[in-house]
Amino acid sequence: MSSAAPPPSTPEAVDADADRSSSLGTYLWRIFPFVAPYKRRVGVGLVLNALARLFDLLPLVLIGWVVDVISTGGEAAEPGLFAWFGLAVLATFLALAVFQSISDYCLDSMAQKVRHDLRLAVYQRMQGLDAGFFEERQTGDLLAVASNDVDNLEHFFSDVTTNVVRLVITFVGVYGFLFWLDWRLALLLIAPLPFAIIAVRFFAVRVQPQYRKARRSVGEINSILENNIRGIGVIQAFTAEAEQLRLVAGRSSSYVEAAIAAARERARFIPLIYLVAGMAFALLITGGAWLTAAEQGPTIGSFTTFVLFAVRLVFPLFIFGMLINQIQRAEASARRIAKLLATESRVRDHPRAAPLADPPEKIELRGVGFAYRREQPVLRQINFALRRGRVLGIVGPTGAGKSTLIKLLLRYYDPGSGEILINDRPLPLVKLASYRRHVGYVSQEAFLFYGTVAENIRLGSPAADPAAVRRAAQIAGAAEFIERLPEQYDTMIGERGLKLSGGQQQRVSLARAVLRDPALLVLDEATSAVDTRTEELIQQNLQRLKDGRMTVAVAHRLSTVRQCDEILVLVEGTIAERGTHEELLAQGGVYAGLWRVQSGALG
Ligand code: ADP
Repeated sequence: MSSAAPPPSTPEAVDADADRSSSLGTYLWRIFPFVAPYKRRVGVGLVLNALARLFDLLPLVLIGWVVDVISTGGEAAEPGLFAWFGLAVLATFLALAVFQSISDYCLDSMAQKVRHDLRLAVYQRMQGLDAGFFEERQTGDLLAVASNDVDNLEHFFSDVTTNVVRLVITFVGVYGFLFWLDWRLALLLIAPLPFAIIAVRFFAVRVQPQYRKARRSVGEINSILENNIRGIGVIQAFTAEAEQLRLVAGRSSSYVEAAIAAARERARFIPLIYLVAGMAFALLITGGAWLTAAEQGPTIGSFTTFVLFAVRLVFPLFIFGMLINQIQRAEASARRIAKLLATESRVRDHPRAAPLADPPEKIELRGVGFAYRREQPVLRQINFALRRGRVLGIVGPTGAGKSTLIKLLLRYYDPGSGEILINDRPLPLVKLASYRRHVGYVSQEAFLFYGTVAENIRLGSPAADPAAVRRAAQIAGAAEFIERLPEQYDTMIGERGLKLSGGQQQRVSLARAVLRDPALLVLDEATSAVDTRTEELIQQNLQRLKDGRMTVAVAHRLSTVRQCDEILVLVEGTIAERGTHEELLAQGGVYAGLWRVQSGALG
């Protein structure tokens, strides 16, 4: 895996038909259980929204009524009555304001809560997935699911749903009122529907695909920017700025092109909408006027209400296409989220798995083989047993499979063949969490989280007291430098915090593993970035700690594993040699050769 050269980002490959909507709503429905806990909020929100819509339309009916009163003249048309009319209109506005604001609050707060729940569910699911899952995907894509997609659904639940509900209720309300006023006008108002359908179709066929393309380009430009910002040091060191700028420019212009194409289609769409809406409107007014003018036709007041209703209804109906577009976007997000939530870890407990009753005392690998990709075996026929109090060293050239072996011990992956036994029980039959609780692990690349030094050391042992943290730091050879930090154990480190050197980071992560007091301590090149003198001190400390636990140490420097009870020499995925340091030297094989080179180089 190289991090310097950004791999071409292909969001399509991650989610090939993400934005294609075969049957709308399939995945959105799967998200609805997240709304269920807020049923009351949703219920109140929707009912009040319906009431708000009715009070929104009521003034239009009142206006029609006043027009009738004026046009028919007579004694009813007196100033006092008009004052009452004014008050009634004011009252409907007040009712609308109250209902609308409570409804908005209910639905918005529901959407925020759903967003929070969804984000946690997505993150929790990710935390439970196996190492292979993360290696097959780009971090940027996974981040997009946890942030953009979750945000899209928040927008869907707050805005889109509200708009759809508003449209539906206005529709029902308008027809309801009109049927009550005059059924002929109500029937006439169906006329714009076919026009609206044409507009929606045009949007779906012409405008939407352009939007989709533009969105995809946004994803691409984001991943290249993210990758380059992280690797800016490398770009500068290799004076690759001009080349990288060209690369970014290329991606950016393909985004701009897609966005401009979308704008062009949209520019065509808007006049079309006005044209079609105008035609529908003209038809309504003409038809309505003919009807009203005819004998036995509707009253002028009804006609007035009808016109006002038409104004209210026609335009929303025509931009329904955009709403559908938003629903489709939400659908694509729901699809990615639902898929992630349904992903099962490939490493999981066997149905009959039981928790470890006591700390593990023995680990055995029998005929273990493994391949990341079929046909490319990385480990073959690995056999060894490790008991409490013993230290196993693993050495070998780069790419021999040392780290892979460690990953199998941590059960990041399951072996392709053979088995791993813990206290004579196959590993899958041991509850994973109960096993990992007994493991302390120092990875090749130390990872520090944003937080204080103490918090970083306490990662796996949150209950540890400050004295225990200090002790662990001493054993890991970290206490000395930590005490010289500005705020000692309370100094903020990690991304955005104080930067530690590679060796210091390693020692903090070693302290983290030591603090756990694990039954199995796994060290993958844990002291490779530490100077030899400090390493020797750490080795002495660890040597004193080896009783009561099993230790596995991978190292490139042979001096690191010299004191191990057994050393495995891995070459191309198989154990080429094994024995103690002295035995291996006596064999005069690979190890003895490496030792000669390294001790010569050291001396
Ligand atoms: P070592 O730790 O001895 O340097 P590794 O266990 O890291 O060796 O790698 C062993 C082999 O497996 C190498 O050929 C490496 O390219 C390959 N490999 C390591 N990790 C992966 C992975 N996630 N996917 C595919 N191949 C991998």
